[in-house]
Amino acid sequence: MSKPDLNCSFCGRPKPETQLLIAGLDAHICDRCIVQAHGIVQEEASETNLDEEPIEVKPPKEIKAFLDDYVIGQEPSKRVLSVAVYNHYKRLTQDSSKADSVEIQKSNVLIIGATGTGKTLLAQTIARQLKVPLAIVDATVLTEAGYVGEDVEGILSRLLQSADYDVDRAQKGIVFIDEIDKIARKSDNPSITRDVSGEGVQQALLKLLEGTVVNVPPKGGRKHPDQKFIEVDTSDILFIAGGAFDGIEAHINKRLNLQAIGYKTVKDQQNVDKENILQYITPRDVRSFGLIPEIIGRLPVLTHMNPLDKATLREILTAPKNALIKQYVQLFDMDGIELEFTSGALDYIVDKALEYELGARGLRSLCEAVLNDAMFELPHSDVKSLKVTKQYADDKLSKIELPKLKAVS
Ligand code: ADP
Repeated sequence: MSKPDLNCSFCGRPKPETQLLIAGLDAHICDRCIVQAHGIVQEEASETNLDEEPIEVKPPKEIKAFLDDYVIGQEPSKRVLSVAVYNHYKRLTQDSSKADSVEIQKSNVLIIGATGTGKTLLAQTIARQLKVPLAIVDATVLTEAGYVGEDVEGILSRLLQSADYDVDRAQKGIVFIDEIDKIARKSDNPSITRDVSGEGVQQALLKLLEGTVVNVPPKGGRKHPDQKFIEVDTSDILFIAGGAFDGIEAHINKRLNLQAIGYKTVKDQQNVDKENILQYITPRDVRSFGLIPEIIGRLPVLTHMNPLDKATLREILTAPKNALIKQYVQLFDMDGIELEFTSGALDYIVDKALEYELGARGLRSLCEAVLNDAMFELPHSDVKSLKVTKQYADDKLSKIELPKLKAVS
């Protein structure tokens, strides 16, 4: 008896038309159907994975411990932010179907502190820990729709981009709005050429902060009118706004002085730490500075950054998980060169950063200037180690004009 003709049980192709026909109990499957079935399995798996990838929300102490690995000092801000982030994501997991549940409001954050003290770094580190998408935007480029610049919706385009266009993830992401103080300024401020504080921008920003559904052009801008808009709900997006608020100390001082004359004693006034007036900031000071009450109301968590003193700068060089010095040691190590800094050299670099008011960003430029010759000469040479001493650093830095570093930092 001859064998019956074999077919693929899925597509019905006869055996001679297949590359391979695999036999099962009562059926056969051909190579093409295997490939197709494999594709379906993969697609299904990736879809369920995306939906199930939970946001990792740890208790405030653990959030703070993670921040400690990357951000030096800034204890008050790290504590306040850890709690705000924890509450924000608790709010997202709230079971609103319960009739008696209290509606928890958003805890958007306002961080006030000089440039280069770590505001952006804080936002970046929080986003990294939570594994949520982050968009960093500058409030000064925001304009009303129709003007040169970026619409407020552009903020959400960036967030979508950072979330690989996964709308659900974007809607649980973080937006860091830098230089928020600049939209507080009156339009007669000579440092701004355009009236970015137009009512339209502020109103649009208010709605975003509070929670609204926005039609977002996928690639940003209005240059592609044929592109479909993506609906993004901002209710669960955490907004962190930052700004230097130059001159706000005067407002704080004034209030503190008034208090001293009023009901507080002179002794209280003497205890005021004049080196760090920002620590006494209240929403009232932000209001006297010029930020409109509606915006302040939607950024209910207020905190400040401390100025970076010598000890902090020294730690920033060496202590964070990805500290600058650790990065250079690794770079040299990849060429088989052992790099070492003496304590005196580190002190010297920090002193120069302070002397020329280069801040934490300047540390990078200084290290680059100190090590550039070595990074050029040593790879693939006979030298297998480099010890950077104060003298070595001084030699290298004497070749450049330090004040110039400020421009790039
Ligand atoms: P800001 O947003 O306040 O202007 P950034 O967060 O951009 O400041 O800080 C600039 C850089 O300086 C950071 O990328 C980081 O390398 C360094 N830096 C500033 N402050 C700190 C800090 N407190 N701890 C560690 N690094 C810091």
